[in-house]
Amino acid sequence: MGLIKTKGIVIGSANSSDNDKVLTVLTPDLGKISIFYRGAKKAKSNGLNCSEYLAFSDFVLYKSSNDNYSINSAEIIEVFYKLREDIDKLSYATEVAKIVYDVTEENIPASDILQLFLNTLFVISETDKNLDLIFSIFQIRLLAILGFLPQISRCTNCGEPMTEDMDEFYFSIKDDGVKCGPCSKLDKSVIRLNKTTFSALIYALSCDSKKLYSFEIPEESINELKLLTKIYTSQKLDKSYEVLKY
Ligand SMILES: [Zn+2]
Repeated sequence: MGLIKTKGIVIGSANSSDNDKVLTVLTPDLGKISIFYRGAKKAKSNGLNCSEYLAFSDFVLYKSSNDNYSINSAEIIEVFYKLREDIDKLSYATEVAKIVYDVTEENIPASDILQLFLNTLFVISETDKNLDLIFSIFQIRLLAILGFLPQISRCTNCGEPMTEDMDEFYFSIKDDGVKCGPCSKLDKSVIRLNKTTFSALIYALSCDSKKLYSFEIPEESINELKLLTKIYTSQKLDKSYEVLKY
């Protein structure tokens, strides 16, 4: 029982009555929690508030004796306003949020996932970077946080070191990592990657989180990464994610 301070971002909401809402909020320490917001509808008539989808806020929550949370007070930190003005940006942000929703749980701290999520929303909202590239990098990094770190330094079959000056790279979906040319011929699940795509994959898995979105690659490589992440994500999370196009 008592008051708890936390930051959090709204990743879902449902009406609880005419005036009240239950928000689904991702927090760093409490994981994904439900928060009861009395009077949400009234507050909404005053403009954007903390119950807005993808609004990131400082919350003071009241925790009841039966472990239910409700809002005591809230102050918006960031609403990613530009997402709301651009249907493409909003579609990608929504798909990113869906994945985040699916991989988080109550009482499982999620500060790494929250940081990646906020970083990704910021880049979608505030830059003109290719949205498919952002979506692919997000998935690669998220899967690594979740423990699905592919082997990229050596061929997963024969152990030959993979270096960026090699001519051929293949990613094996079946064996969670790269394969050299000869070994790839025995594996039907491989996806061919060009040098730039392979370098981008290494970078996305190993760079400082603040620099995650600091590179550009040609469209051919973006398409390779897109195919790779689509298949790899659906295999690891048992669900396909596709951005709705308008
Ligand atoms: Zn090999």
